[in-house]
Amino acid sequence: MGSRITDLHARMILDSRGRPTVEVDCFVEGAFSARASVPSGASTGSHEAMEIRDGGPMWMGSGVEKSVENVNTILKGELVGMSVHDQALIDERLLSIDGTSNKSRLGANSTLGCSLAILKASANEKGLPLWKSIPGDWANATMPVPLMNILNGGAHAATDVDVQEFMVVPYGFPDFKTALRAGAETYHWLKIALKERGLLSGIGDEGGFAPALEKNVHGLELLVEAIEKAGYSISNQIGIALDVAATEFFRSDKYLFDGREIAGEELSSIYSSWIEKFPIVSIEDPFSEDDWDSWISFTDKGHDVLVIGDDLYVTNKVRLNRGISDRASNSILIKPNQIGTVTETLEVMQVAKEAGFDCIISHRSGETSDSSISDLATGTGCGWIKTGAPARSDRTSKYNQLLRINEHGLRYSGLDH
Ligand code: PGA
Ligand code: ZN
Repeated sequence: MGSRITDLHARMILDSRGRPTVEVDCFVEGAFSARASVPSGASTGSHEAMEIRDGGPMWMGSGVEKSVENVNTILKGELVGMSVHDQALIDERLLSIDGTSNKSRLGANSTLGCSLAILKASANEKGLPLWKSIPGDWANATMPVPLMNILNGGAHAATDVDVQEFMVVPYGFPDFKTALRAGAETYHWLKIALKERGLLSGIGDEGGFAPALEKNVHGLELLVEAIEKAGYSISNQIGIALDVAATEFFRSDKYLFDGREIAGEELSSIYSSWIEKFPIVSIEDPFSEDDWDSWISFTDKGHDVLVIGDDLYVTNKVRLNRGISDRASNSILIKPNQIGTVTETLEVMQVAKEAGFDCIISHRSGETSDSSISDLATGTGCGWIKTGAPARSDRTSKYNQLLRINEHGLRYSGLDH
């Protein structure tokens, strides 16, 4: 025997936006073993698994008492007694108890809280760091390249900037620690550049600066200036990643971009011209979540960038399979809470890997101090992590965990995935 789950206990905690979220403690053989908490999005895709919120006047409707209760009654009743090492079996049980296609009975916030706490407890019981204990057949563990969101717009800021995330990608460095320093220095130089122009105002949800800009392209210009002022090269050290999150400004078949209503083809041409002029490494959600035609024709242009589906795929195998067969993109963003269990998250990554897609493990705009995604990105050797600015403890908890993992001397993946 040994390693049986003897208790699961959920509670409400606050996330980085001051909204409630679910935290779960997992007990093994009568002793506390591990704790996990669940993040939450703002620009959520409509095909994501459902996060159950209480509604009503308290917490402006965003309470999680029902989800907490689901863990402390139904899920605890079903999972206590199972081996903490049977992740696949546990997640299968979660799916069958929920019985819906989108976790709408139990809520992905309660299923993921349990699934993740159990994953962490399994590593603890084996005496392994989490990154060494990810179930499945993965490439060698490597330190991921961070996509660092230093300028925030879209649904994460109170400005008119349409593009949600302008990120720096410090790929051209010998090790993770040096790369992180380069990204953080660039963040500080961006602050100086914004201050000089009188544009330094608020901070966005992911810790990046949130200046009001006249046009989206100015965000790209500011990033290039900050990279160069920090003393780095845009040709072989630091690139730029964008998350356009275009679903947010898609209305009746048109995109409301830079104050104009444009069609998908025009938006596609704008991206192509940006790729010519700027050191762009990746573009996430360039088009709306169901505008498959625009995705397919943009990917078909064959630009040397990662075209990443976030709202498009919502970490869902069925949607990813469609994207693979239609060649709608060449990469996928991976967010465990979009699907609701660890096993399904890893399955989607496996499908992506077999299709030659890159996987980018990601945080959400509403975060906690849980840093499991750092271990997930390292242990699966996927090569990329997207986890916000190098500032605010909800974001730095992930970077700091990567610094700890880095002490094991793992290779930094750079662009060589
Ligand atoms: P979200 O944003 O967590 O608000 O969905 C992150 C993203 O779109 O990648
Ligand atoms: Zn996104």
